Amino acid sequence: MTEVRTRFAPSPTGLMHVGGMRTAFVAWLLAKHHGGKFLLRIEDTDQERLVPGAVRFIIEELQWFGIVPDEAPSRAELKEIGEDWDGAPDLGGPCGPYIQSHRGPRYREVAEMLVASGAAYRCDCTAEMLAEDRARQQERKESPGYSGRCRDRNVAADKPHVVRLKIPHDASMSFDDGIKGKITWDSISLRDTVLLKSDGLPLYHLAVVVDDHDMGITQVLRGEEWLASTPIHLLVYKALGWTPPSIAHLPVVMGTDGKKLSKRRGAPASNLLREQGYLADAILNYLTLIGWNPGEGTEQEVFSRQELIEKFTLDRCNSANGVFDPAKLLWMNGLYIRRLSVEQFTDAVKPFIEKAGLKFDEARWRPLVAHVQERAKTLVEVPPMVDYLFTDKIAREMKEMFQKGVDAPKAKEILLRSESRLVALEDFSHTALEAALRPIAEELGLKVGPMLGVVRIAVTGKKVSPPLFESMSALGKEVTLVRVREALGELG
Ligand code: GLU
Repeated sequence: MTEVRTRFAPSPTGLMHVGGMRTAFVAWLLAKHHGGKFLLRIEDTDQERLVPGAVRFIIEELQWFGIVPDEAPSRAELKEIGEDWDGAPDLGGPCGPYIQSHRGPRYREVAEMLVASGAAYRCDCTAEMLAEDRARQQERKESPGYSGRCRDRNVAADKPHVVRLKIPHDASMSFDDGIKGKITWDSISLRDTVLLKSDGLPLYHLAVVVDDHDMGITQVLRGEEWLASTPIHLLVYKALGWTPPSIAHLPVVMGTDGKKLSKRRGAPASNLLREQGYLADAILNYLTLIGWNPGEGTEQEVFSRQELIEKFTLDRCNSANGVFDPAKLLWMNGLYIRRLSVEQFTDAVKPFIEKAGLKFDEARWRPLVAHVQERAKTLVEVPPMVDYLFTDKIAREMKEMFQKGVDAPKAKEILLRSESRLVALEDFSHTALEAALRPIAEELGLKVGPMLGVVRIAVTGKKVSPPLFESMSALGKEVTLVRVREALGELG
């Protein structure tokens, strides 16, 4: 059996959004499912749309997701386009170069092959001529496109020219899409499209066919927006006498409002999700599920990477559009957070705590980590939950103390009694703290909740916090007492 080879072929035009991430995941999963190879190819033929740093961004994002391509641009290649950096992976591979701007001679060679066989032709129409054609077509309300003027003119190779594909008019075409099934075009309304520009650079339609062929790609997976280009690609394959790979188009990802998600409309970029404290595995799991299901009657939604690799097949990809629901991703992320070990969770959260300007303290963190892990749905939620553990100066919502029978004099009394008991306490365990403080409620004729609320605000600054007695125990006697006294001072 031939090796399954898939590729992710992004154009480095900016960030990686939900749709792009999903395409990469699916192509990677499919290759790994079959024990095959996953390639990264950079499609930078549209030089005007290039964004500096975008190649690095793509590679680093894949790294963060734990996806290592089997073949990808080498370091030398990255350097050549000015996107080399410390820690850049040096992958390379037998079918390089993997950056299209480094493959120019090959595209020109294939374009000439197409011209020689009569499947394509040189065209030297000037911009003015094309503009006139367009104006005339508009006037006659015809669909716009190249008139075909140069089809039989045999333009000489030494004149400035573009190379156009001769697209048969009114031919019908069909192919079997790996996800959408049989797709048929009754007539190809496309006009003779440019394959090679006058500066010798290829257009997407030529480069993608040459590369998928030369790189031995067996399965093309890409977003549905490319479906309309497929007949052109198939014509090029046919003209060259090459067998096309299997091709499958992933349905569009919609927002919960039923509209297509796009960079401009609600599609979060992968780095943003990372900064918001989403875990790579949760994103991978959720985005894969958008267009794939493990089979009838399976309720399972949470899959380890290994499980996804084992179960992922194209025939279980949905042909209908998928929906990206941020609430569902959030839910799944919380689930993944709870499944981490304490060590993994701590390692993941530390950079977020430090980024919030807090000083991480292992001893204070340990007693509360389980509680925090149980509640956090993203890592970015954690610092504001636990800031009082990692800072000397806390801000207090003092007026929140006054509720359910607690007024300023009562609050003061609660804090004074707490202070004297804390001073006397030798064992600062959470059970000892609870035994010492709880009775104050009854002594003052208050409910336990509002009474402890006063102490909680004094010690943590918050109305809602991780468990109070564990927090006091974690902070220790000295700090706890300082905070109770500060709150007394603030009460006046
Ligand atoms: N370069 C195209 C993109 O940016 C990829 C199209 C394809 O996969 O054939 O999405």
